[in-house]
Amino acid sequence: MPKAATPVREDLNPHHIARNQFEEAIPYVDDLRGWKGVSRWLFEPERVIKVTLPVLMDDGEVEIFRGYRVLHNTGRGPGKGGIRFYPTVDEDEVKALASWMTWKCAVVDIPFGGAKGGVECDATKLSVDEKRRITRRFVTALGEAIGPYTDIPAPDMYTDADTMAWIYDTYAMLHPNAENLGVVTGKPVDLGGIPGRSTATAQGSVFVTERLLALGAVPGLSQIEDAVVAVQGFGNAGRHAAFILRDMGAKVVAVSDSKGGIIRAAGLDLEAVEAHKKETGSVVGTPGTRRIGVKGTLEVPCDILVPAALENQITLENADRVKARLVVEAANGPTTPGADRILASKGIVLAPDILANAGGVVVSYFEWVQNLEHEQWEESVVHERLRTKMYRATEQVLATYRRITERFGEYQERWRKEMPGAKALTRKPDLRTAAMATAVGRCKAALDRRGVWP
Ligand code: NAD
Repeated sequence: MPKAATPVREDLNPHHIARNQFEEAIPYVDDLRGWKGVSRWLFEPERVIKVTLPVLMDDGEVEIFRGYRVLHNTGRGPGKGGIRFYPTVDEDEVKALASWMTWKCAVVDIPFGGAKGGVECDATKLSVDEKRRITRRFVTALGEAIGPYTDIPAPDMYTDADTMAWIYDTYAMLHPNAENLGVVTGKPVDLGGIPGRSTATAQGSVFVTERLLALGAVPGLSQIEDAVVAVQGFGNAGRHAAFILRDMGAKVVAVSDSKGGIIRAAGLDLEAVEAHKKETGSVVGTPGTRRIGVKGTLEVPCDILVPAALENQITLENADRVKARLVVEAANGPTTPGADRILASKGIVLAPDILANAGGVVVSYFEWVQNLEHEQWEESVVHERLRTKMYRATEQVLATYRRITERFGEYQERWRKEMPGAKALTRKPDLRTAAMATAVGRCKAALDRRGVWP
């Protein structure tokens, strides 16, 4: 009888993973003086809010939901970050996601800090009315914790422009006679939203991909045209990424959603996949495709793999079976630190989440500016400004990566001398380390300039 495989033990707590990624970046910041205290200040959230939400369900029963909003760091500006409705939402997940928002805003250099929120619920089982009542109760419970100049939510998993409209409306009811549009981004275009916000996360990922390929960062792959692509997740981030890449000449061979995945070696007919999902609730069963598992897309031989669903998808358990040249993290936290090491050892390049999916928050920033300035931007303007931001951030991260890789020996020596007693620096940096070092350095610079009050 064949021996059962031993399960691989790995710490999948997102907050522990976020800490690990943060600590990996510290040896590469410019100035290590005072880092012991500053690193604690920079990593710990400024504020954690937990609320209990009694909500009347359609069947007349009262159900209790738990909601969270974490403000991670406001050194560079007000908090910014999505709200998700998902069954696994808990304090550690939201803390991790909020810290990733701080680094994300810093890496693309927009004047926001990091925040995130979530409600523990299964949105697929809620009616529209129930979702709206949860949203309104959550916003009411958060009270003054959110606001156009303090903490500005946006969409994330299982929340969308409609949810943002309810957030705005609830906040506006609580703050009459004031300008409130800037309290939330990702709103419908006819309610203070900005054209291009719904595709922004995916479009940003594609700009990062385009720039990395043009700058020779991915061995054996120089352009999107003719590249073979697999996408995990067919929601806001994944679906748009698939369409944009296909429209640029790539061949999208596999996609998936929470019910399973599908593959077609000759390339999927994405319009047919979308129509099938609309009709049945899943991509699975689209005519002319073969079914694969929920995580099957991650193992499809391809040039570009886009995890666009949720955290902890590429782990010690399956990283060895990833067969891509480039992994573009449209999702937040899809790859664990252990999996990062395996991918690097296989020569697979990874565009990290804080860079690769920052397009959403960049266009959210444009929307916020538009609201505060009473402007309306054309989609072409949004597109070009997003391109500029994403190209520049990619170039800066790549330059940092090349610098810290080439001078790795010097960084090892400096770390040994200036941080006696700390764990020796042995792991070669990757693009995630470079993106984190860029972001953490910028946040540290902001704190240094402001000083410690009083
Ligand atoms: P979404 O709700 O629109 O889509 C989520 C997708 O993930 C769906 O296709 C769903 O079927 C799939 N999914 C859910 N559970 C799954 C599971 N257990 N296994 C496999 N697939 C599963 O959400 P979204 O906004 O596209 O967010 C996806 C990811 O992108 C998240 O990690 C989110 O934090 C990240 N992200 C989103 C934005 C944004 O602007 N929406 C911005 C930055 C990052």
